[in-house]
Amino acid sequence: MLALDVQNLSYHYQGGVQALKQVSFSVEEGSFFALLGPNGAGKSTLAHILANLLAAQEGEALVAGHSVKRAPIRVRKSLGLVFQEPSLDDRLTVWENLDFHARLYQVGRGKGAKIRGVLELVELEKWSHALVRSLSRGMKRRVEIARAMLHEPKILMLDEPTVGLDVSSRNKLWDYLKGLQSQGVTLFLTTHYIEEAEGAHQVVIINEGEKVAEGTPHELKNLIGGDSLRLKVIPEGLEALQAYLASKVEKVQLEGEMLHIRVGNAEKFLAEMMPQYGDKVTWVEVERPTLEQVFINLAGKRIADSHADGREQLLNFAKAGGEHTR
Ligand code: ADP
Repeated sequence: MLALDVQNLSYHYQGGVQALKQVSFSVEEGSFFALLGPNGAGKSTLAHILANLLAAQEGEALVAGHSVKRAPIRVRKSLGLVFQEPSLDDRLTVWENLDFHARLYQVGRGKGAKIRGVLELVELEKWSHALVRSLSRGMKRRVEIARAMLHEPKILMLDEPTVGLDVSSRNKLWDYLKGLQSQGVTLFLTTHYIEEAEGAHQVVIINEGEKVAEGTPHELKNLIGGDSLRLKVIPEGLEALQAYLASKVEKVQLEGEMLHIRVGNAEKFLAEMMPQYGDKVTWVEVERPTLEQVFINLAGKRIADSHADGREQLLNFAKAGGEHTR
């Protein structure tokens, strides 16, 4: 069963830009999916359409099998939402915020136990009577995750959830999210952080409203020819190794004293090669392609807008009390 099925979605803001152009993809139930793209790519717009906060002018989206247009209430119940903008009432306590959500979603039986359960999930049991405004930014995010999970949704949708968080808060958040995913919750994440998409089962890359690639991180990296492998070889072994490599890959380059090739998976390649040629090789260098390189290849620019990211780094730097966080 598919958790999400997005079919030819298009969206244009009134009098503004075409934010999505015929975007299609699907997400397997129980998987971790990442929608990766630079600022302005259309990620939030897409998340808002799936949450039925915006209505697409064209296309269809099914959430847990329910049409966003025709069955909005079922869609809402299937989704836990964590959006970029803080959305807790900070004059209320943690418990009151969760209780309010539980009422909205008609979490009837066992409400108290469920609230305690989600607070345990994000390790905030001791803070249940604290006013939200007294919490750190990372803790507030954790309350938002707890709240999103309160009505036991099948899919947790997170729109850039770690923006503005320091590294330790980010890591904690990831621990909870991985825990949820291992319990069968589908994770739908939008991000412009490469490293967050690296751990996903499936990644869709979007740029200027258009899907430019999709696949596992491994498949996407193979689009640019796989791992880069450099081998330093003793002079008497050079000819034999060059011939071996040429029989295995399309292109073998000699760079100074190093032989350079691209292979799908460097470890697998080396495991086959080394028993025969290990005595001729004195140095091995493996460089893995990153999703950033994939994006540059496809879109001709970087994902991370260096200006915005620089600002964010400074912000995190200040928040972490001077300890560099990225
Ligand atoms: P992302 O989440 O990837 O940063 P968005 O979905 O927020 O991208 O934005 C996609 C495009 O739509 C951008 O060009 C953005 O400027 C534009 N956009 C976003 N929200 C609005 C809005 N409320 N009105 C008009 N244009 C908008």
